[in-house]
Amino acid sequence: MNYFSSNFKLGILGGGQLGKMLLYTTRKFDIQTVVLDPNKDAPSRLACNVFVQGDLMDFNTVFNFGKKVDVLTIEIENVNVEALEALEKEGVKVYPQSKMLKTIQNKALQKLFYINNHLPTAAFSRFAFASEIKKAIALGNLTFPFVWKSAQFGYDGNGVKIVRTENDLKDLPEGECITEELVPFKKELAVIVARSVSGEIKTYPVVEMEFHPEANQVEYVICPARISAEIAKKAELIALKTANAFNHIGLLAVELFQTQNDDIIINEVAPRPHNSGHQTIEASYTSQFEQHLRAILNLPLGDTNNKTNGVMVNLVGAEGFNGNVVYNNIEEILKMSGVTPHIYGKKQTRPYRKMGHVTIVNNDLAEARKIAEAVKNTIKVVST
Ligand code: ADP
Repeated sequence: MNYFSSNFKLGILGGGQLGKMLLYTTRKFDIQTVVLDPNKDAPSRLACNVFVQGDLMDFNTVFNFGKKVDVLTIEIENVNVEALEALEKEGVKVYPQSKMLKTIQNKALQKLFYINNHLPTAAFSRFAFASEIKKAIALGNLTFPFVWKSAQFGYDGNGVKIVRTENDLKDLPEGECITEELVPFKKELAVIVARSVSGEIKTYPVVEMEFHPEANQVEYVICPARISAEIAKKAELIALKTANAFNHIGLLAVELFQTQNDDIIINEVAPRPHNSGHQTIEASYTSQFEQHLRAILNLPLGDTNNKTNGVMVNLVGAEGFNGNVVYNNIEEILKMSGVTPHIYGKKQTRPYRKMGHVTIVNNDLAEARKIAEAVKNTIKVVST
Protein backbone atom coordinates (compact mmCIF):
# COMPACT_ATOMS: atom_id res chain seq x y z
CA MET A 1 0.00 0.00 0.00
CA ASN A 2 1.13 3.52 -0.67
CA TYR A 3 0.97 5.58 2.50
CA PHE A 4 3.12 8.53 1.46
CA SER A 5 1.42 11.59 -0.05
CA SER A 6 -1.62 9.44 -0.75
CA ASN A 7 -5.27 9.21 0.30
CA PHE A 8 -4.42 6.62 2.96
CA LYS A 9 -5.81 7.61 6.36
CA LEU A 10 -4.43 6.63 9.73
CA GLY A 11 -6.91 6.98 12.59
CA ILE A 12 -5.57 7.63 16.09
CA LEU A 13 -7.72 7.13 19.18
CA GLY A 14 -6.60 9.72 21.70
CA GLY A 15 -5.08 13.14 21.09
CA GLY A 16 -2.75 13.59 24.04
CA GLN A 17 1.00 14.17 24.02
CA LEU A 18 1.77 10.67 22.75
CA GLY A 19 -0.47 11.32 19.77
CA LYS A 20 1.12 14.72 19.24
CA MET A 21 4.59 13.15 19.10
CA LEU A 22 3.37 10.36 16.79
CA LEU A 23 2.18 13.11 14.47
CA TYR A 24 5.75 14.51 14.15
CA THR A 25 6.41 11.39 12.08
CA THR A 26 3.19 11.39 10.05
CA ARG A 27 4.00 15.01 9.16
CA LYS A 28 7.57 14.02 8.23
CA PHE A 29 6.29 11.18 6.02
CA ASP A 30 3.26 13.13 4.72
CA ILE A 31 0.78 10.51 5.91
CA GLN A 32 -2.80 11.67 6.47
CA THR A 33 -4.21 11.37 9.98
CA VAL A 34 -7.54 11.66 11.76
CA VAL A 35 -7.59 11.99 15.56
CA LEU A 36 -10.44 11.34 18.01
CA ASP A 37 -10.32 12.90 21.49
CA PRO A 38 -12.97 14.15 23.91
CA ASN A 39 -11.13 17.41 24.55
CA LYS A 40 -11.36 20.06 21.81
CA ASP A 41 -8.05 21.52 23.03
CA ALA A 42 -6.18 18.17 22.97
CA PRO A 43 -2.40 18.46 22.26
CA SER A 44 -2.79 16.62 18.91
CA ARG A 45 -5.36 18.97 17.45
CA LEU A 46 -2.93 21.12 15.45
CA ALA A 47 -0.72 18.44 13.92
CA CYS A 48 -3.37 16.05 12.51
CA ASN A 49 -5.21 16.54 9.23
CA VAL A 50 -8.67 16.12 10.74
CA PHE A 51 -9.62 16.39 14.40
CA VAL A 52 -12.84 14.82 15.68
CA GLN A 53 -14.14 15.57 19.15
CA GLY A 54 -15.80 12.57 20.76
CA ASP A 55 -15.93 10.04 23.57
CA LEU A 56 -13.30 7.28 23.28
CA MET A 57 -15.39 4.94 25.45
CA ASP A 58 -18.59 5.28 23.39
CA PHE A 59 -19.22 2.36 21.01
CA ASN A 60 -20.89 4.33 18.21
CA THR A 61 -18.40 7.20 18.30
CA VAL A 62 -15.39 4.87 18.04
CA PHE A 63 -17.07 2.58 15.48
CA ASN A 64 -18.13 5.44 13.18
CA PHE A 65 -14.69 7.04 13.48
CA GLY A 66 -12.95 3.74 12.68
CA LYS A 67 -15.10 3.12 9.60
CA LYS A 68 -13.58 6.16 7.92
CA VAL A 69 -9.93 5.14 8.25
CA ASP A 70 -7.66 2.47 6.72
CA VAL A 71 -5.60 1.64 9.81
CA LEU A 72 -6.63 2.47 13.35
CA THR A 73 -4.23 2.82 16.27
CA ILE A 74 -4.32 4.15 19.82
CA GLU A 75 -2.28 6.43 22.01
CA ILE A 76 -4.29 5.57 25.14
CA GLU A 77 -5.54 2.13 26.27
CA ASN A 78 -8.90 3.20 27.65
CA VAL A 79 -10.98 3.05 24.49
CA ASN A 80 -14.13 1.10 23.62
CA VAL A 81 -12.80 -2.35 22.80
CA GLU A 82 -16.14 -3.73 21.60
CA ALA A 83 -16.11 -1.09 18.86
CA LEU A 84 -12.59 -2.22 17.88
CA GLU A 85 -13.78 -5.85 17.69
CA ALA A 86 -16.69 -4.79 15.44
CA LEU A 87 -14.31 -2.79 13.23
CA GLU A 88 -11.94 -5.74 12.87
CA LYS A 89 -14.91 -7.85 11.70
CA GLU A 90 -15.62 -5.17 9.08
CA GLY A 91 -12.04 -5.46 7.81
CA VAL A 92 -10.52 -2.36 9.40
CA LYS A 93 -6.94 -2.97 10.50
CA VAL A 94 -6.72 -2.24 14.22
CA TYR A 95 -3.24 -2.20 15.80
CA PRO A 96 -2.76 -3.08 18.59
CA GLN A 97 -5.45 -5.72 18.13
CA SER A 98 -8.65 -5.60 20.19
CA LYS A 99 -7.90 -8.94 21.83
CA MET A 100 -4.62 -7.69 23.22
CA LEU A 101 -6.19 -4.44 24.45
CA LYS A 102 -9.00 -6.34 26.17
CA THR A 103 -6.43 -8.41 28.07
CA ILE A 104 -4.31 -5.54 29.22
CA GLN A 105 -7.18 -3.15 30.06
CA ASN A 106 -7.90 -5.35 33.06
CA LYS A 107 -4.91 -5.89 35.37
CA ALA A 108 -6.29 -9.24 36.60
CA LEU A 109 -6.58 -10.55 33.02
CA GLN A 110 -3.15 -9.11 32.23
CA LYS A 111 -1.57 -10.95 35.18
CA LEU A 112 -3.33 -14.19 34.25
CA PHE A 113 -1.91 -13.84 30.75
CA TYR A 114 1.63 -13.75 32.15
CA ILE A 115 0.97 -16.80 34.30
CA ASN A 116 -0.61 -18.75 31.42
CA ASN A 117 2.31 -17.88 29.13
CA HIS A 118 5.02 -18.68 31.69
CA LEU A 119 6.19 -15.08 31.80
CA PRO A 120 7.71 -14.03 35.15
CA THR A 121 5.61 -11.67 37.29
CA ALA A 122 4.91 -11.04 40.99
CA ALA A 123 2.38 -13.35 42.69
CA PHE A 124 -1.13 -11.87 42.87
CA SER A 125 -4.72 -12.44 43.98
CA ARG A 126 -7.87 -11.25 42.28
CA PHE A 127 -10.84 -9.65 44.07
CA ALA A 128 -14.24 -8.67 42.67
CA PHE A 129 -14.60 -6.07 45.44
CA ALA A 130 -11.99 -4.34 47.58
CA SER A 131 -13.97 -5.26 50.71
CA GLU A 132 -13.06 -8.92 50.11
CA ILE A 133 -9.42 -8.02 50.84
CA LYS A 134 -10.26 -7.68 54.56
CA LYS A 135 -11.80 -11.17 54.57
CA ALA A 136 -8.70 -12.61 52.92
CA ILE A 137 -6.52 -10.98 55.58
CA ALA A 138 -8.77 -12.28 58.40
CA LEU A 139 -8.55 -15.79 56.94
CA GLY A 140 -4.77 -15.53 56.75
CA ASN A 141 -4.74 -15.79 52.95
CA LEU A 142 -3.16 -12.37 52.56
CA THR A 143 -0.50 -10.69 54.69
CA PHE A 144 0.88 -7.15 54.93
CA PRO A 145 2.59 -5.54 53.11
CA PHE A 146 1.13 -5.88 49.63
CA VAL A 147 0.27 -3.68 46.66
CA TRP A 148 -3.36 -2.91 45.82
CA LYS A 149 -4.13 -2.21 42.17
CA SER A 150 -7.44 -1.24 40.67
CA ALA A 151 -8.23 -3.77 37.93
CA GLN A 152 -9.36 -1.11 35.50
CA PHE A 153 -8.55 2.45 34.48
CA GLY A 154 -5.49 2.99 36.65
CA TYR A 155 -3.14 5.55 35.16
CA ASP A 156 0.14 7.12 36.29
CA GLY A 157 0.06 5.41 39.63
CA ASN A 158 -3.40 6.59 40.74
CA GLY A 159 -4.82 3.07 40.70
CA VAL A 160 -1.94 1.72 42.81
CA LYS A 161 -1.37 1.79 46.56
CA ILE A 162 1.13 0.12 48.82
CA VAL A 163 -0.81 -1.33 51.74
CA ARG A 164 1.28 -1.79 54.88
CA THR A 165 -1.33 -1.70 57.63
CA GLU A 166 -5.08 -2.09 58.20
CA ASN A 167 -5.28 1.72 58.12
CA ASP A 168 -4.15 1.86 54.47
CA LEU A 169 -7.22 -0.16 53.52
CA LYS A 170 -9.62 2.58 54.59
CA ASP A 171 -9.78 4.75 51.49
CA LEU A 172 -9.51 2.07 48.82
CA PRO A 173 -12.18 2.45 46.16
CA GLU A 174 -14.66 -0.44 46.07
CA GLY A 175 -14.48 -2.34 42.79
CA GLU A 176 -12.54 -5.07 41.04
CA CYS A 177 -8.89 -5.11 42.03
CA ILE A 178 -5.80 -7.23 42.46
CA THR A 179 -3.33 -7.46 45.30
CA GLU A 180 0.26 -8.13 44.44
CA GLU A 181 3.29 -9.20 46.39
CA LEU A 182 5.36 -6.09 47.24
CA VAL A 183 8.58 -6.43 45.26
CA PRO A 184 11.60 -4.88 47.02
CA PHE A 185 13.16 -4.17 43.65
CA LYS A 186 16.69 -2.89 43.01
CA LYS A 187 15.67 -1.00 39.91
CA GLU A 188 12.70 -0.39 37.67
CA LEU A 189 13.59 -1.07 34.06
CA ALA A 190 11.69 -0.91 30.80
CA VAL A 191 12.19 -2.29 27.34
CA ILE A 192 10.33 -1.04 24.32
CA VAL A 193 9.72 -3.69 21.69
CA ALA A 194 8.45 -3.05 18.19
CA ARG A 195 6.74 -5.88 16.33
CA SER A 196 5.46 -5.30 12.82
CA VAL A 197 2.50 -6.82 10.96
CA SER A 198 4.87 -9.30 9.29
CA GLY A 199 6.37 -10.27 12.68
CA GLU A 200 9.66 -8.38 12.35
CA ILE A 201 10.70 -7.61 15.92
CA LYS A 202 13.27 -5.32 17.55
CA THR A 203 14.01 -4.07 21.06
CA TYR A 204 15.31 -0.71 22.15
CA PRO A 205 18.13 -0.58 24.73
CA VAL A 206 16.93 -1.23 28.30
CA VAL A 207 16.12 1.96 30.19
CA GLU A 208 16.12 2.61 33.90
CA MET A 209 13.38 4.63 35.58
CA GLU A 210 13.76 6.74 38.67
CA PHE A 211 10.44 7.51 40.33
CA HIS A 212 9.28 10.54 42.25
CA PRO A 213 8.88 9.21 45.79
CA GLU A 214 5.47 10.84 46.45
CA ALA A 215 3.72 11.21 43.12
CA ASN A 216 4.60 7.68 41.93
CA GLN A 217 5.44 9.16 38.52
CA VAL A 218 8.63 8.65 36.54
CA GLU A 219 11.08 11.45 37.32
CA TYR A 220 14.08 10.43 35.18
CA VAL A 221 14.42 7.87 32.40
CA ILE A 222 18.04 6.86 31.83
CA CYS A 223 19.13 5.25 28.60
CA PRO A 224 20.96 2.94 28.57
CA ALA A 225 20.19 1.58 32.04
CA ARG A 226 23.19 1.35 34.39
CA ILE A 227 23.06 -2.45 34.60
CA SER A 228 25.29 -5.33 33.51
CA ALA A 229 25.12 -6.69 29.96
CA GLU A 230 23.80 -9.93 31.42
CA ILE A 231 20.82 -8.28 33.15
CA ALA A 232 20.14 -6.22 30.03
CA LYS A 233 20.06 -9.39 27.92
CA LYS A 234 17.65 -11.01 30.38
CA ALA A 235 15.33 -8.00 30.25
CA GLU A 236 15.41 -7.87 26.45
CA LEU A 237 14.60 -11.56 26.13
CA ILE A 238 11.61 -11.28 28.46
CA ALA A 239 10.34 -8.26 26.54
CA LEU A 240 10.67 -10.11 23.21
CA LYS A 241 8.92 -13.16 24.64
CA THR A 242 6.09 -10.97 25.94
CA ALA A 243 5.50 -9.21 22.61
CA ASN A 244 5.52 -12.55 20.79
CA ALA A 245 3.13 -14.14 23.33
CA PHE A 246 0.62 -11.35 22.69
CA ASN A 247 1.19 -11.58 18.90
CA HIS A 248 1.43 -7.89 19.41
CA ILE A 249 1.55 -5.44 16.51
CA GLY A 250 2.98 -1.99 17.14
CA LEU A 251 5.04 -0.76 20.03
CA LEU A 252 4.96 -2.56 23.36
CA ALA A 253 6.54 -0.99 26.44
CA VAL A 254 7.39 -3.71 28.95
CA GLU A 255 7.88 -2.37 32.47
CA LEU A 256 10.09 -4.60 34.59
CA PHE A 257 11.47 -4.97 38.09
CA GLN A 258 15.05 -6.07 38.75
CA THR A 259 14.72 -8.03 41.99
CA GLN A 260 17.29 -8.29 44.79
CA ASN A 261 18.36 -11.64 43.27
CA ASP A 262 18.75 -10.05 39.85
CA ASP A 263 15.71 -11.80 38.48
CA ILE A 264 13.72 -9.81 35.98
CA ILE A 265 9.95 -9.85 36.40
CA ILE A 266 7.20 -8.05 34.51
CA ASN A 267 5.28 -5.27 36.21
CA GLU A 268 2.95 -4.33 33.38
CA VAL A 269 2.88 -3.51 29.68
CA ALA A 270 1.63 -0.58 27.63
CA PRO A 271 0.79 -1.34 23.98
CA ARG A 272 1.82 2.02 22.56
CA PRO A 273 4.57 4.63 22.64
CA HIS A 274 5.51 5.18 26.26
CA ASN A 275 7.00 7.70 28.66
CA SER A 276 10.06 5.47 28.99
CA GLY A 277 10.84 5.95 25.28
CA HIS A 278 10.66 9.71 24.86
CA GLN A 279 14.46 10.06 24.81
CA THR A 280 14.47 8.05 21.57
CA ILE A 281 13.41 11.23 19.72
CA GLU A 282 16.84 12.78 20.29
CA ALA A 283 19.02 9.85 21.37
CA SER A 284 18.12 7.03 18.94
CA TYR A 285 18.42 6.48 15.21
CA THR A 286 14.66 5.87 15.09
CA SER A 287 12.23 7.47 17.53
CA GLN A 288 9.72 5.21 19.26
CA PHE A 289 6.94 7.10 17.49
CA GLU A 290 8.38 6.52 14.04
CA GLN A 291 8.93 2.89 15.00
CA HIS A 292 5.29 2.46 16.05
CA LEU A 293 4.20 3.84 12.71
CA ARG A 294 6.61 1.58 10.83
CA ALA A 295 5.35 -1.46 12.77
CA ILE A 296 1.61 -0.88 12.22
CA LEU A 297 2.07 0.00 8.54
CA ASN A 298 4.25 -3.09 7.99
CA LEU A 299 7.23 -0.99 6.91
CA PRO A 300 10.80 -2.11 7.68
CA LEU A 301 11.61 -1.39 11.33
CA GLY A 302 14.25 1.25 11.97
CA ASP A 303 17.56 1.01 13.80
CA THR A 304 16.90 0.98 17.58
CA ASN A 305 20.47 1.74 18.62
CA ASN A 306 21.35 4.89 20.52
CA LYS A 307 23.24 7.61 18.67
CA THR A 308 24.26 8.86 22.12
CA ASN A 309 23.11 8.55 25.74
CA GLY A 310 19.78 10.04 26.70
CA VAL A 311 18.16 11.08 29.96
CA MET A 312 14.56 12.25 30.11
CA VAL A 313 12.97 14.44 32.76
CA ASN A 314 9.22 14.74 33.02
CA LEU A 315 7.91 18.27 33.40
CA VAL A 316 5.04 18.00 35.81
CA GLY A 317 2.95 20.77 37.34
CA ALA A 318 4.50 22.13 40.55
CA GLU A 319 2.60 21.69 43.80
CA GLY A 320 0.37 24.60 44.75
CA PHE A 321 -0.26 25.83 41.20
CA ASN A 322 -3.54 25.44 39.31
CA GLY A 323 -4.45 27.46 36.23
CA ASN A 324 -2.92 28.93 33.07
CA VAL A 325 0.52 27.38 32.67
CA VAL A 326 3.84 29.27 32.65
CA TYR A 327 7.24 27.59 32.18
CA ASN A 328 9.54 29.52 34.52
CA ASN A 329 13.25 29.61 33.53
CA ILE A 330 12.77 27.76 30.24
CA GLU A 331 15.38 30.12 28.72
CA GLU A 332 17.88 29.00 31.36
CA ILE A 333 17.61 25.34 30.37
CA LEU A 334 17.81 26.24 26.67
CA LYS A 335 21.32 27.56 27.38
CA MET A 336 22.41 24.11 28.60
CA SER A 337 24.22 21.72 26.27
CA GLY A 338 22.20 18.90 24.64
CA VAL A 339 18.94 19.94 26.26
CA THR A 340 15.63 19.82 24.34
CA PRO A 341 12.33 20.71 26.00
CA HIS A 342 9.05 19.31 24.67
CA ILE A 343 5.97 21.27 25.66
CA TYR A 344 2.79 19.25 25.19
CA GLY A 345 0.38 22.13 24.71
CA LYS A 346 -1.89 21.72 27.73
CA LYS A 347 -3.10 25.16 28.71
CA GLN A 348 -3.92 24.37 32.33
CA THR A 349 -1.47 23.10 34.90
CA ARG A 350 -2.24 21.28 38.15
CA PRO A 351 0.05 19.54 40.64
CA TYR A 352 1.86 16.56 39.07
CA ARG A 353 0.05 16.87 35.70
CA LYS A 354 2.42 15.82 32.88
CA MET A 355 2.90 19.06 30.95
CA GLY A 356 6.02 18.23 28.97
CA HIS A 357 9.40 16.58 29.15
CA VAL A 358 13.04 17.50 28.57
CA THR A 359 15.60 15.27 26.89
CA ILE A 360 19.28 15.57 27.71
CA VAL A 361 21.78 13.94 25.34
CA ASN A 362 25.46 13.52 26.12
CA ASN A 363 28.23 11.09 25.21
CA ASP A 364 28.89 10.75 28.94
CA LEU A 365 25.84 9.25 30.70
CA ALA A 366 26.86 10.49 34.17
CA GLU A 367 27.13 14.01 32.76
CA ALA A 368 23.69 13.68 31.13
CA ARG A 369 22.19 12.63 34.48
CA LYS A 370 23.86 15.60 36.18
CA ILE A 371 22.50 18.05 33.59
CA ALA A 372 19.07 16.41 33.96
CA GLU A 373 19.09 17.21 37.67
CA ALA A 374 20.10 20.79 36.93
CA VAL A 375 17.22 20.98 34.43
CA LYS A 376 14.81 19.62 37.01
CA ASN A 377 15.95 22.15 39.61
CA THR A 378 15.77 25.07 37.16
CA ILE A 379 12.58 24.85 35.12
CA LYS A 380 9.31 25.12 37.05
CA VAL A 381 5.82 24.49 35.76
CA VAL A 382 3.67 27.08 37.52
CA SER A 383 0.61 29.20 36.76
CA THR A 384 -0.04 32.90 36.16
P1 ADP B 1 0.28 2.39 36.59
O1 ADP B 1 -0.51 1.49 35.74
O2 ADP B 1 -0.53 3.40 37.30
O3 ADP B 1 1.51 2.96 35.91
P2 ADP B 1 2.00 0.43 37.94
O4 ADP B 1 1.45 -0.92 38.05
O5 ADP B 1 3.07 0.64 36.91
O6 ADP B 1 0.81 1.49 37.79
O7 ADP B 1 2.57 0.88 39.35
C1 ADP B 1 3.10 2.18 39.59
C2 ADP B 1 4.35 2.08 40.43
O8 ADP B 1 4.06 1.46 41.68
C3 ADP B 1 5.43 1.20 39.81
O9 ADP B 1 6.17 1.87 38.85
C4 ADP B 1 6.24 0.84 41.06
O10 ADP B 1 7.07 1.89 41.45
C5 ADP B 1 5.17 0.64 42.10
N1 ADP B 1 4.75 -0.79 42.13
C6 ADP B 1 3.80 -1.37 41.36
N2 ADP B 1 3.69 -2.69 41.61
C7 ADP B 1 4.58 -2.97 42.58
C8 ADP B 1 4.96 -4.16 43.29
N3 ADP B 1 4.35 -5.33 43.09
N4 ADP B 1 5.95 -4.06 44.20
C9 ADP B 1 6.56 -2.87 44.46
N5 ADP B 1 6.24 -1.72 43.84
C10 ADP B 1 5.27 -1.75 42.91
